[in-house]
Order: sequence, then C-alpha cells, then structure tokens
Amino acid sequence: MSPQKVVVVGAGIVGLASAAVLVARGCSVTVVDREGPAAGASQGNAGGIAWTDVRPLASPGIMGQAIKWMLDPLGPLSIRPAYALKALPWFLRFARASSPAQVQKSTTALAALNDRAWDSWQTVWKLTGTHNQVQRKGCLQVFDTKSSFENARARWAEQRSYGIEVRELTGDECREVEPELSNRVVGGAFVPAWSQVDDPKKLCLSIYDWLKTQGVEFVVGDAKSAVPGGRGPEVHLSDERVLTADKVVIACGAWSKKLAVQLGDKVPLDTERGYNITIPEPGLKLSTFVMLSGHGFAVSHLEHGLRVGGAVEFAGLDLPPNWKRVDAMLSKAKIYFPQLQSDTGKRWMGFRPSLPDSLPVIGKSSASPDIVYGFGHAHHGLTEAAVTAEMLSALMFDEVPVVDATPFSAARFK
Ligand SMILES: Cc1cc2nc3c(=O)[nH]c(=O)nc-3n(C[C@H](O)[C@H](O)[C@H](O)COP(=O)(O)OP(=O)(O)OC[C@H]3O[C@@H](n4cnc5c(N)ncnc54)[C@H](O)[C@@H]3O)c2cc1C
Repeated sequence: MSPQKVVVVGAGIVGLASAAVLVARGCSVTVVDREGPAAGASQGNAGGIAWTDVRPLASPGIMGQAIKWMLDPLGPLSIRPAYALKALPWFLRFARASSPAQVQKSTTALAALNDRAWDSWQTVWKLTGTHNQVQRKGCLQVFDTKSSFENARARWAEQRSYGIEVRELTGDECREVEPELSNRVVGGAFVPAWSQVDDPKKLCLSIYDWLKTQGVEFVVGDAKSAVPGGRGPEVHLSDERVLTADKVVIACGAWSKKLAVQLGDKVPLDTERGYNITIPEPGLKLSTFVMLSGHGFAVSHLEHGLRVGGAVEFAGLDLPPNWKRVDAMLSKAKIYFPQLQSDTGKRWMGFRPSLPDSLPVIGKSSASPDIVYGFGHAHHGLTEAAVTAEMLSALMFDEVPVVDATPFSAARFK
C-alpha cells in the first residue's frame, strides 16, 4: 500500500521528479525548499540528457591529467587555494576511486543508471506534459590536437560496447555538422542519441506547475534535520516548524551532506562548481550540443540563447564566484567559433553535488528505511533525475528498483 504522506526536501530537478513519480503513485506529497523551485544547480545547467555517457570522472590516469589542469587556475579543473586543504580528503578518495577495479565497478553502475535514464524521463515528461521540451540533437565532441582526438578512441569504444552509437569524424566532417567551427578542430565524434532540454529552469518550473495542479504542497523552509521520529519521520525546519510524514526524500543537491551525516551516513560529498554564460544574441546558431573536449566545457543553444560553460572548480559552498573563469571559457570558445559575439550575456555559477567515485547516492538512510536519499549526481543530475525518482519510489515501497541500487548506497562509504 502507498504511504499516505511523503515530504521531499529540495526542489531541484531530483526533488521535483521524485515528487512527480510519487504523486503518480497516489502519495500525498509536500516539497520543502529553503528558496523555492530550481534555486540550485538545476536552474542553469547545460541542459544535456547525457544518458550516452558511461565513464565515471574518476578513471585511470585522471590524477596526472588533473594535476596538469590545475597548473592553470582558469583551466578545466581548479582548486581555490583557500579551499585546498578542505578538498584534500575528497581528492584522496577520488584517487582511490580511479583504480582500474573501482572504475570498472563505477562504469558498470553508471552505464546501468544512464541506460534507464531516457525511458524514465519519457515517463515523467509525458506525465507532466513537458515532453515537448526535449530534443534529440546529438552531441558533437571536437578536438584541437591529434593526440587528444586519438586518446578519446578508447572512451568511444567503451561507449559502443554498451550499444551507444559514436561516429568518428574528421575535422572537415565536424565542420559539415557545425559550419561555424574554425579550422582549429582536427577531429571529433558525433553521438546522435544525446539529447537536450530547451531550458533546464523552464523544465523545473513546468514540473513545479504541474505538481501544484496535482495538489502538491510547496513549503519554503530550511530543513535543519530529518529524524526517524516515534510515529514516522519528521523534518525539522530552522524556524521550528516540524513536517511529519510516512516517508522523507532528501534531495538537497550539494547541501545534502549535513542531513545525511545526522542520519549516520558520513558521505564525502563536496561540490564541483561550474560556471557559464548565456548569450541571447551570440551571432551564430548551432544545431548540436558541442563539447570542447580537452577544455572541459560545452557550447549549446538553449531556448533563450547560447550557453557557454562547464569546467570544475573546488571552492566549497561559501566562497564568492570567480567570474574570470567565465571570461577564460569565452576566450577559448571564440577560438573555435570566431563569429561568437559576447557583448550581452548572463553569467551563472552552480554547485554540482559530487561524490569521489562519480556515483550518486540513491537509497535508504542508515537511521531509517523511511528516509531515503537522492543526491550527489554531479555532472549528470538532470540526466539521472527521473531514474533516481523511479528507484526511490520503488525502494520506499519495498519493490525491486528498475536499476540495482546497491552500488549507489550511502553505506559504500562506511
Ligand atoms: C555548469 C553546469 C552544467 C551542468 N550540465 C549538466 C548537463 O548538461 N546535464 C546534466 O545531467 N547535469 C548537468 N549538470 C549537473 C546538474 O545541474 C546537477 O547534478 C543537478 O542539477 C542536481 O540537482 P539536485 O536536484 O540534486 O540539486 P539542486 O538543483 O542543487 O537542488 C537542491 C535544492 O535543495 C535546496 N536545499 C538545499 N538545502 C536545503 C535545506 N537544508 N532545506 C531545504 N531546501 C534545501 C536548494 O535550495 C535547492 O533548490 C550541470 C551542472 C553545472 C553546474
């Protein structure tokens, strides 16, 4: 039987998708967020439904590459000096997670999760009437050196081994796909099944609107703890309000650690900050999602402009943004797209919630089977929100989830 009442903490894409799946099951759902819907990473990401990705970030050789990247403070990966010591434990775990054995385990888990991601989204898009907000545009990965192009072949072979189509292209063939690419591009690959939403914030707000029509209650409040309680779990808010429920979902993105630790799960969650700029009149039009491989960022068209951004910065949740990172990405993007105009544009920074083994936490808390987690999706939170929602809903009802949840348990960090 469905539990009567579920409180979802966090109205990012994971919390909203979870609320939608739970409503469809007949639950009475309350969503609590300290700001409102799409206040976090879900509002400004690149919009990719990257279900064709199978490889975790932690992989053999990545530590050497990471050290090279870090030599450039505005490069694909940087650590703010003021945060370096705090980031150290995460990086030690990341190094451990880059062993061939762990990478194999993470790849198998990630491939299974992403393999189901598209079908799960189809269900949620149809349910919420948002299916017209996504398009199968394909992803064009481009390279500016022969060596980086050749090194990517192993990754494409791995994707193909999971049934994903990857077409290798010459530089000229890349320019046939995107005629405004410069001669700097020496080769690339096209992944036709990669998809993109028109605007990730609009998707969140549309789901939010639909949830309201279904009677979902939205509460603005800061959850300071979730506790098992005598008669079922309770969510305690900073202003002393208490929300009672039969089940609770913790989906606070990069801010989930405190609540999980209180529940006995010392998850090594940190944030990989990402930056971008959205340019309403960029002076060029792209038909695909273009990944500037080797530079760690992408250029893609959304409904309201061209979004240029990505990359990773470790600086925690509190330090101010470093907007020079946006300028650096723009300069690089102009080498690939000389026509790119950036006189106008809105800059943004978001907090990716990241675990060192590149897998999210999806599963029951140690303190109570009635309090479940859905956070830590890092670079794939939009992609994996709907499958996470389906898995959490199954776990709550003691059903077998569509994807084996074992590799995603918080207990893996014990
Ligand atoms: C630059 C960039 C590009 C990206 N591109 C992609 C992409 O193309 N494809 C993709 O799949 N993913 C992408 N991502 C990753 C994706 O955006 C995230 O993984 C995803 O948005 C995380 O969603 P979430 O719901 O877990 O967290 P969030 O969206 O961060 O939501 C968490 C919510 O919890 C609330 N909250 C936090 N603490 C509390 C509390 N104590 N009480 C109440 N409420 C609380 C916050 O206000 C927030 O609304 C990108 C990220 C960045 C930064």
